[in-house]
Amino acid sequence: MSTLFTKIINREIPASIVYETEKVIAFNDINPQAPVHVLVVPKKEIPTLNDIETIDCEYLMEMYKAIKEITRDLKIAEDGYRVITNCNTHGGQEVFHLHFHILGGKALGSMVSSK
Ligand code: 5GP
Repeated sequence: MSTLFTKIINREIPASIVYETEKVIAFNDINPQAPVHVLVVPKKEIPTLNDIETIDCEYLMEMYKAIKEITRDLKIAEDGYRVITNCNTHGGQEVFHLHFHILGGKALGSMVSSK
């Protein structure tokens, strides 16, 4: 069964797409945690960070290129931003299709809650 993000890639469910190439798509998070909250997703169903293999390196390079271009275009590159990947239960991962969260548009504070 295809992942939620593959359904977005295939236009089976709508999303606010901000960037797309042959290997990568990026769209606004449906529940933004900052003024800018974009998800960068490979067009390959890699479930988690634990599942990345050497053969996936082109996807990863394209994802980093996407981050560079999106943050420049959304004018948050200079002030700065945060990139997060959640992995499995302790990481709080909800969608098991690898993705980077780009968060920005304001000062984001400390890295994680100490609670
Ligand atoms: P995770 O917790 O797996 O790292 O992040 C999954 C992200 O996907 C969450 O931030 C959540 O808000 C976002 N999300 C879940 N469903 C949808 C959807 O249907 N559309 C979009 N654009 N984002 C979604």
